[in-house]
Amino acid sequence: MESKKVYNFAAGPSKVPEEVNTQFVNFIYFQLPAQQVLRQAQQELLNYNNEGASVMELSHRSKTFEKVIETAEKDLRDILSIPDNYKVLFMQGGGTGQFAAIPLNLCPGLKDCSADYLVTGAWSSKAAKEAEKYIKVNRVLPKSDKHVTIADKSEWKLNANASYLYYCENETIHGVEWHHAPEPLPGVPLVADMSSNFLTKPIDVSKYGIIFAGAQKNVGIAGLVVVIVREDLLGKEAGFCPSVLSYKTMADNKSLYNTPNCFAVYITGLCLKWIKANGGLRGMQERCNKKSDLIYSVIDSSNGFFYSPVDKRYRSKVNLPFRIGGANGDDELEKEFLSESAKRGMIQLKGHRSVGGLRASLFNAITIEETQFLANFMKEFHNLKQK
Ligand SMILES: *Cc1c(COP(=O)(O)O)cnc(C)c1O
Repeated sequence: MESKKVYNFAAGPSKVPEEVNTQFVNFIYFQLPAQQVLRQAQQELLNYNNEGASVMELSHRSKTFEKVIETAEKDLRDILSIPDNYKVLFMQGGGTGQFAAIPLNLCPGLKDCSADYLVTGAWSSKAAKEAEKYIKVNRVLPKSDKHVTIADKSEWKLNANASYLYYCENETIHGVEWHHAPEPLPGVPLVADMSSNFLTKPIDVSKYGIIFAGAQKNVGIAGLVVVIVREDLLGKEAGFCPSVLSYKTMADNKSLYNTPNCFAVYITGLCLKWIKANGGLRGMQERCNKKSDLIYSVIDSSNGFFYSPVDKRYRSKVNLPFRIGGANGDDELEKEFLSESAKRGMIQLKGHRSVGGLRASLFNAITIEETQFLANFMKEFHNLKQK
């Protein structure tokens, strides 16, 4: 059945490049990158690699799946130029599972340990609270509940004895993004949650101790979290760290300590091929810049009709929260915008319930044309309301 065209601006699960995505066409909340990825998955669904079975049915110990996971790792290493002294792990439990895994793996002394957290929005706040179950957490930035900027470095309180410095590169809900990674004190490993801006721009992996990202935003579907960990950080886990959260156990077993989410690894593999074929990280960055410029330029030239709450220096290029009718938003206008945009096939534009308003999520799979379609509609809506 032909599916109707939708413009899926969801914050995750989110659009997959359609090249990855056709078996999910009826799942409008859950699209993968461009037509190739989904189409390929559809074609191979019942008979992968001429095995007569789907990836979902093959043993995770089979040669065929071994190739799937090894190829995905190799492609990720190529795309990010991951140095040899880093392990790539395919884990479960999502980004949220990593909020616990990080202190459990890096703080053998637990209650005697402390770590520095840069809280810039909902996700880093959640991570800090989870870590507090196990260790002492030092909040580096002055307290704020608005999360529309990042305090100046002169106001930071870093601890030289911290086990690590934690930050969230892109706050999916508040739309605050670090465009330059924070500098940790000497000897303190830097830990980054890149769930929502993973593979949207080139990064220097060697600056990091650990990078993790849930796959469902930029590189696939839910049920898989990619973890990149520097080797010298392995083997420090607390005695009671669950084996499935132990980086060393996962690394020693090439992510096959227990049954991985084979299908999600396979989809991520297809997404990585798609990223490679679309210019790698430079290509993704160019798309990302163009797309976010399209929306921000409509917002900034609207004389306050559209309002972006975030400090321009830290505006996210991936998750763009905005209000209509001024800084506090006009309920009626925002509702009307949502229903009119839905009539045009644009879905998932409602802001997160904790901040309200609207939000456009422009993950890798969203095309420039789709973003232009939204930008044009925003202008049209503004013109209509001006009359
Ligand atoms: C979505 C998200 C998470 C949580 O991921 P789950 O897979 O739902 O656990 C964590 N951090 C960020 C920045 C996210 O966007």
